Amino acid sequence: MKRLPRVDLLADAPELAPARELLGRRAVVGLVREVLAEQREFVRAGGAAIGAEEALKLVAGRAEQRRASRLRAVINATGVVLHTNLGRAPLPPESAARLTELAWRYTSVELDLELGTRSRRAASIEAALAEISGAESALLVVNNAAAVLLALSTLAAGREVVVSRGELVEIGGGFRIPEVLVRSGARLREVGTTNRTRVGDYAAAIDAATACVLRVHPSNFRISGFTERPSLRELCELSHERGVPLVKDLGGGLVSELPGIEGEPSVQSCLTAGADLVCFSLDKLFGGPQGGVIVGKRELVSRLRDDPLARALRVDKLILLALEPVIEAYQRGQSERIPVHAMLRARPEALEERIRGWQRALGELAARTTLIETTAAAGGGTLPEEPLGSRALSIRTEDAEGLSRALRRGDPAVLPRIADGAVLLDARTVLPGEDEALIAALRAALSLENQN
Ligand SMILES: *Cc1c(COP(=O)(O)O)cnc(C)c1O
Repeated sequence: MKRLPRVDLLADAPELAPARELLGRRAVVGLVREVLAEQREFVRAGGAAIGAEEALKLVAGRAEQRRASRLRAVINATGVVLHTNLGRAPLPPESAARLTELAWRYTSVELDLELGTRSRRAASIEAALAEISGAESALLVVNNAAAVLLALSTLAAGREVVVSRGELVEIGGGFRIPEVLVRSGARLREVGTTNRTRVGDYAAAIDAATACVLRVHPSNFRISGFTERPSLRELCELSHERGVPLVKDLGGGLVSELPGIEGEPSVQSCLTAGADLVCFSLDKLFGGPQGGVIVGKRELVSRLRDDPLARALRVDKLILLALEPVIEAYQRGQSERIPVHAMLRARPEALEERIRGWQRALGELAARTTLIETTAAAGGGTLPEEPLGSRALSIRTEDAEGLSRALRRGDPAVLPRIADGAVLLDARTVLPGEDEALIAALRAALSLENQN
């Protein structure tokens, strides 16, 4: 034990100057303590104590790891457009420009510059969201999980929410309908069975204790075979006959036509079918920054807005800045300017053209590659059973895992897909302007592999 070096001597060693510069002395002291504690365990278990030099190397390595854990750019070559681990929808360049222009300044986020009085945050954005989705009113919160929580809490705390057993699902990232319901203070009234629920099941469950009927979009799964569930319209008709509102948790946030995902219901179609409130995400098919929206009947949306919980779920000004250009693209009928939409619309011929460009730029290394047909996916809980035809650069390799690891470790990182022992780079999700960086990363990873 005595042989173990002292904390302060290590932390102040010249070898750790870069680490202190990067993380601050306090963090370096923390890393030194961590390494020494592990060494003490090791010595207690009969191992030999390490010297100062080795300890310094361990600490420097950990400092480097800390640095690498900062957010890094990732070139998404997986073909999954809305990749939750990669932050879902990438923002249009206009949103980035707006952030650069205004994020460092004071902004009129809650000030009416005309009158010089206080204004309601996001009021104009909410008006635009209502207009885009054809609703009477809209409310913006931090994400769709918050939207559902707020809707149920305001409308149904202490009362019952009627839900089909087939919709008591988990939607990625631990969003479980039954658990959200409990947190809202509402009681769950389950109806039907996992595979079949009829209008009659709902009719029998709605009584004086019912606050609302909840309908959940089966985002990321399908029950197939012997199944049945009423159409949204039928369910809305029943709810209205019985005088209870219907809340639809839609998820996706589709508000304009998008080829390739025709089966996905839009916000408008839910409202037309009669839903009183519709909740959706802004960073899925809508193509914006993280956010959640509740649209629908003015009176209900106002009740949600006045709930103290809404204050706890309000969005930051950075989100508003990033969102404005996305909303403007919809208002001008230019949704193709939204990256998610551009990617979903890209034609196979255009993807092939791009991949041939990559091959030309790779020169001799291109001999190891082929252009192949593959399938991409919208992701983000959209239509799991409808693959999207796509094109990829397939790279032959002895060690697909190794090559893909090398690509992941670059900066920007490149995230490929592995299929049948080959490394695939799907062109659909590589953003415009990333080609050069992708080629550089490929060259680096392939030449590294050639050396080994
Ligand atoms: C994605 C999704 C959610 C969660 O939305 P977040 O914006 O991630 O909070 C909830 N419900 C449905 C149906 C979804 O698809």
